Amino acid sequence: MKKIFKKKLFRVNSKLRIYIYIIAFFLSLVFIAIIYQSHKNRVLINNIKHNPIQVYYKIDDLLYDFLTDSSITKFVNNKTSFNKLAYIPSNLEYISSDYVTDSKWNSRLREEANIALQDMAKDFYDVFWVKMQVVSAYRSYDYQVGIKSRWCSDLLCAKAWFSEHQTGLAVDLWETTTKDEFLSKSNLLKYFNWMKKNAYKYGFHNTYQKWLSIDWYLVEPWHWRYLWFDLASELHNTNKTFAEYYYINK
Ligand SMILES: [Zn+2]
Repeated sequence: MKKIFKKKLFRVNSKLRIYIYIIAFFLSLVFIAIIYQSHKNRVLINNIKHNPIQVYYKIDDLLYDFLTDSSITKFVNNKTSFNKLAYIPSNLEYISSDYVTDSKWNSRLREEANIALQDMAKDFYDVFWVKMQVVSAYRSYDYQVGIKSRWCSDLLCAKAWFSEHQTGLAVDLWETTTKDEFLSKSNLLKYFNWMKKNAYKYGFHNTYQKWLSIDWYLVEPWHWRYLWFDLASELHNTNKTFAEYYYINK
């Protein structure tokens, strides 16, 4: 009797063992897939940093295309709008992380800009030991309509349909209202000087530096636009703003 019971038990156990082996096999596959994916992401981020052309080879078609709404180099100012009134980028993602504070809790950027921002914020953190503070990023057409309804000058706040924030490629860093207020704060001045020297390496450009006659807006040391490494470095090396470059090359 005992033997039969043991045999039965053994049979059940052996079946159970097979199930356990199968489950363990699938779990290890999932584990390997997770490790592989995180490795791929790391390689992608490193490649973007060191060799952007290789990864975003398709971007060649888009680079210097100032007209297509979804182009990384789409140009907008208060005279040049998007083609589609309510254009929404397709790959928006949330931006808070270990190195970025999101004051609005739900700020989003396009994936390309977000990867570059995270990369920049990490290096910024290594220097200052503070997180980069984002106060505004992607703003939809409707959101911009709301901002304008509370009255904000056209020289400081773009009209809806004409805002660089609608590209999903622009961020405002650190809360201030005017250029003078921003630059009078010693920590913000330090951060700005670091950005001026380094942001282009990650593809970011300070869009409004040269006032109304050139940029059509007041100077905004807090406003940074992702333009991809190639164009951002060209603007940095030639000391041009995006607007200057656009009107020469359009
Ligand atoms: Zn802005």
